[in-house]
Amino acid sequence: MATNIKAVIFDWAGTTIDYGCFAPIKGFVDGYRSIGVEITNEMARKPMGLLKIDHTRAIAAMLPEPISEEQILRAYEKFEETLFANIELHCDIKEHVIETVDALRAQGIKIGSTTGYTSQMMEPVLKKVADAGYAPDFWISPDMTAKGRPYPYMIWENLKAFGISEPREAIKVGDTTADIKEGKNANCWTVGVIMGSSELGFSRDEVAALSKGELEEHKKRVRASYYKAGADYIIDDMDELIDVVADINRKLELNADRKLLTPGPLTTRYSVKNAMLTDHCTWDDEYKAITTSVINDITNISANGDYTTVLLQGSGTYAVEAMLDTLTGTGETILFLVNGEYGRRMLTIADRIDRKYIPLEFNMTNPLDVEAVEEKLKETTDISTVAFVHCETTTGIINPLEDLVKLAKAYGKKVLVDAMSSFGAYDIDMPGLEIDALASSSNKCLEGLPGLGFVVVKKALLEECADNASSHSLDLYDQSKSFGDGNGKFRFTSPTNVLLALRQALDNYKMEGGLEARKNRYIENHNILTEGLEKLGFKAVIPAEYQSHIITTFELGDLDFASLYNALKEKGFVIYPGKLTEIPTFRLGNIGDVYPEDMSALVTALDEFLKN
Ligand SMILES: *Cc1c(COP(=O)(O)O)cnc(C)c1O
Repeated sequence: MATNIKAVIFDWAGTTIDYGCFAPIKGFVDGYRSIGVEITNEMARKPMGLLKIDHTRAIAAMLPEPISEEQILRAYEKFEETLFANIELHCDIKEHVIETVDALRAQGIKIGSTTGYTSQMMEPVLKKVADAGYAPDFWISPDMTAKGRPYPYMIWENLKAFGISEPREAIKVGDTTADIKEGKNANCWTVGVIMGSSELGFSRDEVAALSKGELEEHKKRVRASYYKAGADYIIDDMDELIDVVADINRKLELNADRKLLTPGPLTTRYSVKNAMLTDHCTWDDEYKAITTSVINDITNISANGDYTTVLLQGSGTYAVEAMLDTLTGTGETILFLVNGEYGRRMLTIADRIDRKYIPLEFNMTNPLDVEAVEEKLKETTDISTVAFVHCETTTGIINPLEDLVKLAKAYGKKVLVDAMSSFGAYDIDMPGLEIDALASSSNKCLEGLPGLGFVVVKKALLEECADNASSHSLDLYDQSKSFGDGNGKFRFTSPTNVLLALRQALDNYKMEGGLEARKNRYIENHNILTEGLEKLGFKAVIPAEYQSHIITTFELGDLDFASLYNALKEKGFVIYPGKLTEIPTFRLGNIGDVYPEDMSALVTALDEFLKN
């Protein structure tokens, strides 16, 4: 993971030297004239940035009549002759280059370079320019690598020379679209310089002769071409580069790699994030097939063919609300079992969607009490549905799912479960227990990215619930009709990139070894965490027998949460505030792409914090 900018790799002609990049132009015009072909300066300039023989071929490709390879080589020969005769006249160093290079070096930044010149052409240039005060730490020509631009090999050689393994720690600065493409292909940051560029194509005198309006128009044209080529920054002049470096460093710091010890969003694998790089349409057939495969894979984690999964755009709460709104009717009474914030959130939802309900509330540090629930079911006969949270992420307590479901089923009730933070890491036998539906999301134990909730539901129940939902967008029945029969189409715009990431996350889930392996890793993480913190004197709030292997609440004692948070963030860990009202607490999640070593490192970081 990139931390800060360590190298700036400049192009030569048009970027750091040779204002307007004129040295090669006359050469190409002369070269083609020598084989009887007249080309314009614009044609000569168009492929600028490429290795010169590639450039000669690119001009040939623009001609109305094809010419032979032999003619191209003759034109190139004449090009070289003219270029060598002229090249030393085009070694002026551009404005602000020397000061900018000094300022970059003062920050410890290495100065690299790439070019379209061959090494033979570079020889006189290097000498002349060094005498005038500009000498980069590294130079290379495309004849020294397998290929020139837009291939990234010259940049790789720079990175290799500087001992840099992370391309996002380097910036490519150039004055042609070929430079920008080379930088993109190397996965570096890219900067296009407008003034004095080949892309602008004017000498200093020609610029001076332009009206202000004309110059602005030309600058707009150059800006548009750099933008289209994929530039990350576009600057007028080299003196703006220092600000660009500062801005990139700010972004790198802001996005520093940290382990999220929270219950979602989580630390995710590179392949999951990388899967987002493709753009798809909601209604594209291939995309719909991916969507169907995600639906089936999720269903198969805890259920079978009697169930389906309805994906829903939004965070987990959207899925919980959709589940309650679609799978209960206004005439029904829901018994909500509550021992935390997420249980309470279901009451809020029920109020908003106008459902009748009975809240049965328990202390947050105790699991839901099966006996008390049975009493309630005995005394209140008009209850149709029992709903509760499996792992109450508020505290990390795990509720007795099996006993609660068996009880509710013995009384003939419909059972809806918020399994947001447990799905994928706890055995939940939906068919065996006859659970009617559960809600979860992409960004918890499946280790995908945030943006998708889902409800796994009995198909038969869903069919009975066509007319329940008070909300249009949260209607799971309508949503499922769109996905229906393997069609795989999202009803409204799909979070396509998030779904692709979830597809990859499910592949990773299988590769790791499915539920068993994921559960075991989390248990191991959790054990190292809790044993380590206990040794440091931290007290877990939930007794071990009710404690989930997902997230744990610890007493904060005299510590200040903000100081603890900041100290751990410095060390690369992000922790979560507590939600208990009686005593100050903090929470540590151990789910996501995190491993026992990360847990040990966190314990060490906490130890260090306490010692200071
Ligand atoms: C994460 C979570 C939710 C959903 O929260 P969102 O912020 O909407 O993603 C709901 N219930 C539980 C138990 C959770 O852990």
